[in-house]
Amino acid sequence: MLSIMTKPDFHITAEQHFDEMVALRRDFHQYPELGFQETRTSGIVAQQLADLGFEVQRGLAKTGVVGLLVGARPGPTILLRFDMDALPVQEETDLPYKSVNPGVMHACGHDGHTAMGLTLAKIMAEQQAQMAGTLKFMFQPAEEGLGGAFAMIADGVLDNPRPDAALAMHIWTPEQVGKVRIVDGPCMASSSVFTLTVQGKGGHGAAPHQAKDPILAAAHIVVALQSIVSRNTNPQDSVVVSIGQFAAGTTFNVIPDRAILKGTVRSYNQALHRQTYRRILEMAQNMATAFSCTATMETVAIVAAVVNAEEPTAVVRQAATLVMGAENIVEHRTMASEDMGYILEEIPGCYFFVGGGNAAKGLTYPHHHPKFDFDERAMIDGVALMAQAVADYVLPVGNSR
Ligand SMILES: [Zn+2]
Ligand SMILES: [Zn+2]
Repeated sequence: MLSIMTKPDFHITAEQHFDEMVALRRDFHQYPELGFQETRTSGIVAQQLADLGFEVQRGLAKTGVVGLLVGARPGPTILLRFDMDALPVQEETDLPYKSVNPGVMHACGHDGHTAMGLTLAKIMAEQQAQMAGTLKFMFQPAEEGLGGAFAMIADGVLDNPRPDAALAMHIWTPEQVGKVRIVDGPCMASSSVFTLTVQGKGGHGAAPHQAKDPILAAAHIVVALQSIVSRNTNPQDSVVVSIGQFAAGTTFNVIPDRAILKGTVRSYNQALHRQTYRRILEMAQNMATAFSCTATMETVAIVAAVVNAEEPTAVVRQAATLVMGAENIVEHRTMASEDMGYILEEIPGCYFFVGGGNAAKGLTYPHHHPKFDFDERAMIDGVALMAQAVADYVLPVGNSR
């Protein structure tokens, strides 16, 4: 007797859940909530997880939800992370399920992520009796620059049980639907912001010799900072230094007291990040001195780099080969940032991007754009891919590992 035991075909399973997943996503889209205010969204998440028989924990990082699915037999604990927050953007689409909350929009696709997480929860709940291990679903608030993942770690999301591996994904419109971006090692950059205050001495615009002009000093600083990437950084490494704000003065004929520069640094490693800040400060101080001003700097770390670990990345790549085909795997990293970096500093894991763009359907707007939208079929790919990767860890039947 030949008994063939194989894992379910998760692409077909995900496709069977497509309509309800779309309905969920559109509901979240219509009622978007900003970081740490996701009360409606997290309420739906907690209710659905409880209905599926998950052990549900609420209130981590205020609106975060953790759902545990404990398999019939012992095995590894795998953390699956989904973000729920929207952005302070006024939606400009014509979608029938357009945001009803003025100035708030799901312009990054986290509505899709939440719907995918709940759909995956449903699919895996059906596998509970075969599962050897535990799935820890993490629905986090405030991914968009507010450090929701960090706050959930502080509230114990990585304890009891501590995950052995962590997976997360992002729908990504710069990539076409049907493709997936997976990369070993650094995947997204660490991000920090800085404020440079250039202090001079104000005076009359007609008597500049009696003043110390901070605008002139700050203008030279902006230009000089551009040489950090081109002259101080190893060409093999990636760093971004961008000034996003230059504020000084009040009117035509007054030399102001001070100028304020605000900017951001992105890189894939901490040593390089520190080196870049050393150069920014040296340049700002020396350039300010050259113009008889002074410069001080304040920095705030936003997120760590997202760095993929070898084994989980191999698992995801293998899963992608099975459910999407090797020809649809694209190697690509980005200088954008994600607070999943904090999780991956503690737990080996893999973060990947599911293509969600579709030029033929006009779905080409970048993330955070008021007209942002994605091809909803991307959600099938994402759920199938993550289900397949999870199966590799906790469904030992037919497992080659
Ligand atoms: Zn975003
Ligand atoms: Zn996002």
